[in-house]
Amino acid sequence: MTKEVVEPGAVVGMLGGGQLGAMFASTARRMGYHVAVWDPDPEAPAHRIAKHSFTTAFSDLPSREQFANIVQATTLEWENVPAELCGWLEARRPMRPSSMVLRTLQDRIAQKQFLSSRQLSVAPFAVVESAKQLDEAIARLGFPVVCKTATSGYDGKGQWILRTFADVKRLERILGQAESLQRWIVEQFIVFVRELSVLVVRNESGEVRVYPVVENRHEQGILRETRVPAPINSGTAEQAKELSLQAVAALQGIGVFCVELFHTEDGSLLINEIAPRPHNSGHYTLDACSVSQFEQQVRVTCALPLGEIRLLSPAVMVNLIGEEVRSVMSAEGCSSLHSTSGAVLHLYGKQLIRPGRKMGHVTFTGPHEELVAAVAQKFMVNLGRPA
Ligand code: ADP
Ligand code: MG
Repeated sequence: MTKEVVEPGAVVGMLGGGQLGAMFASTARRMGYHVAVWDPDPEAPAHRIAKHSFTTAFSDLPSREQFANIVQATTLEWENVPAELCGWLEARRPMRPSSMVLRTLQDRIAQKQFLSSRQLSVAPFAVVESAKQLDEAIARLGFPVVCKTATSGYDGKGQWILRTFADVKRLERILGQAESLQRWIVEQFIVFVRELSVLVVRNESGEVRVYPVVENRHEQGILRETRVPAPINSGTAEQAKELSLQAVAALQGIGVFCVELFHTEDGSLLINEIAPRPHNSGHYTLDACSVSQFEQQVRVTCALPLGEIRLLSPAVMVNLIGEEVRSVMSAEGCSSLHSTSGAVLHLYGKQLIRPGRKMGHVTFTGPHEELVAAVAQKFMVNLGRPA
């Protein structure tokens, strides 16, 4: 297998310009690379760090020619980038992850079918394309279920929990109003003890690295808080890592992957979903690991050896969502945070504050887990959020 190292000084392509793309671009710059960011939104945070910015639609043909002529290798920060564009780019230069992996993961139905065909545990599910199929799915799976759009969902958007037939009727009205045929996946609602995630990095030489298992707490489908190490025994942690490694290996994935898991009461682990990119639950790696998820993404994209992962400190990452960001934007708020031992503030520089929008995050580190958890909890109480 050929693997040509992309040398510092070269331009690396990034499809998508959100905070994940911006953190990648900062890291790539530190490592001596230039970054070409392509995101149709001119306000997207990564454009500010890019050497070359593309703000045309992903379907723009002259732009793809220009982009391909500039970059030595390309990666992405958003799984909804057109797989067709990635396929076109990878015929010219390395694209990590590949368009084939992207095609499987960007469609929740294709993803779940792939995982279950490989005997990798997922929640029982059904494919739904009509009201009749929805009724059949509920008859088979039983209430409650989670109904998700097959594509384009994120942060809990495009999802409905159905607990009763009244909920079903309401959703059927929405389905009936949809202009074009929609595809949905309906999953059994999993009563989990906790949600976990595992970052897996895999390169073309067959090297693999796995980050420690983290615990994630969501509110209304949005990640609120990540805690590392997860409060689980070593057997469960090993199982979670093994399942995640198997999933990424089955995909033949090259890149950084985040495997989200449900840990149920009977101790079993189910894969919820896999993202083919760095993940919000891996932001702590910037401040608490020997090598961050973004540096690993640079390394994989540029065919460099992967970094050895060491957790330098326990950590809690708290997202700043919507208006919450204001609490650290005032002189008093940011002074208070910066005087907190072990707190590291990351603001994404988004101009518009919208409800549910991720505006930044804070990572707390410290000498032991209890202390870190207590400091993070105090911060969340001050944010006016339940800890
Ligand atoms: P997204 O792409 O928005 O992250 P997810 O499928 O991860 O979509 O769903 C977001 C959150 O909703 C999950 O982290 C979990 O808290 C909850 N959730 C999703 N699917 C299920 C399910 N089958 N059972 C219980 N909770 C679920
Ligand atoms: Mg998710």
